[in-house]
Amino acid sequence: MTDKLLNWIRPEIRALNAYHVADARGLTKLDAMENPYTLDELTGHWPEVLAAAEINRYPDPSAAVLREKLSQTMDVPEGAATVLGNGSDELIQMLAMVVSGKDRCIMSFDPGFVMYRMIAEFVGMDYVGVPLDESFNLDMVATRAAIEKHQPAIIFIAYPNNPTANLFNEANIEEILKIAPGLVVVDEAYHPFAQSSFMSRLPEYEQLLVMRTVSKMGLAGLRLGMLAGAPELIQEVDKVRLPYNINVLTQQAACSALEYVSVLDEQAALIRAERETMLKALSDMSAVEAFPSRANFILFRLLQHDAASVFASIRDQGVLIKNMNAQTGALKNCLRVTVGKPEENAAFLLALEKALAA
Ligand SMILES: *Cc1c(COP(=O)(O)O)cnc(C)c1O
Repeated sequence: MTDKLLNWIRPEIRALNAYHVADARGLTKLDAMENPYTLDELTGHWPEVLAAAEINRYPDPSAAVLREKLSQTMDVPEGAATVLGNGSDELIQMLAMVVSGKDRCIMSFDPGFVMYRMIAEFVGMDYVGVPLDESFNLDMVATRAAIEKHQPAIIFIAYPNNPTANLFNEANIEEILKIAPGLVVVDEAYHPFAQSSFMSRLPEYEQLLVMRTVSKMGLAGLRLGMLAGAPELIQEVDKVRLPYNINVLTQQAACSALEYVSVLDEQAALIRAERETMLKALSDMSAVEAFPSRANFILFRLLQHDAASVFASIRDQGVLIKNMNAQTGALKNCLRVTVGKPEENAAFLLALEKALAA
C-alpha cells in the first residue's frame, strides 16, 4: 500500500506495536492470570441462562440489574455510583477519553500495567511512568516530584501491581490521594487474591475511583469491569460509554454467575494457597529470585540463566508462561507465571527445574 493512505493514520498510532497475545494452543496456560477452574455450577444451567437473553433486542443500556448485583458483591459503599465496561480495559479507555487534551498526562508507575501507557497513546495523551524502587514499592520522593511537575489528569495505581504482583503501601497511596491534582484510580483487578481494598474509602476521597473486574476471579471470557466513585464523576465517564457496551449474553451470564460467588471465593482461596506453595518452591531454588505476591501470579528473576532460553525451554516442555522481555531495567531477566491448578503448577516447577539443569 502507498503512503498516501497510510499517512492519514496518526503517526503515534503507526509507531505502536499491536498488543501481542501468545498462541497457547496445546499448552498448559499459565500466562494470562486466568482462573484455571470452571464454574460447573453455572454451566449446568447454560440453556436456561441463554434462553433468558433476548438477542433480538438491544441490551439494557446501563445494565441496571447487573450493576446492582455487582455493587452488592463488591461492597460498593452507599452514595457511590458505578459504570460498567467491556472489561476494565474499556473503563481505562473511557477515563482517558474524558480527561484527554493538550498538555494533559496520564501517570502511573513502571514497571506497571501496559494498557495505561497504550491507552494514553491511543487518545493522544502523554504518559508519565514513575519508576518504582528496587523492591517494586512506590518511590515517594520520585512520586511527589513527578506529581508536582506533571500535574497528572489521572493517576492509575494497580493494587496489587501487574507485573510485579506486590501490594503498594497503603499510607503512600493515601498521600497520593491527598496531593494529586486530578483523579486517582485504584485498579483492584486482583482483589480476590489481595483481600485489601480502597473500596470502603470512597466516601473519604472525592478524587478516588476504584476499578474492579470479573476477569481474574474466573470470568475473563465475559469481558466485564466496574468503576465506582463519586456520582458527579461517574456521570461524566458514563457520557463517553458506547450505549450498549455490555452485551445481552454478558449481562445475563454475569448475573447468573454472581449467584455462585461463594464458589468463586473458594476457588480464589485455593489459588491463594497454591501461590504460597509455589512461592516456597521458587524461593528454594538458588538460581531464582521470586518476588512477593498478593496476586494470582508470581514474578521471578533468573540469577544465572538467560530468561528467554528458560522461557523457551519451559514452553517446549508444554507450559506457557510470560517472558517479560527485558534485557535491562527493573524487569531484567524476569519471567511471570500465573498460579494454576496444583498439577499445572507442579508441571511448571518441574519444567523450570529441568530448564535450569540444562
Ligand atoms: C488484567 C488487568 C486488567 C484488565 O482487566 P479486564 O477487565 O480483563 O480488561 C486491568 N488492570 C490490571 C492491573 C490488570 O492486570
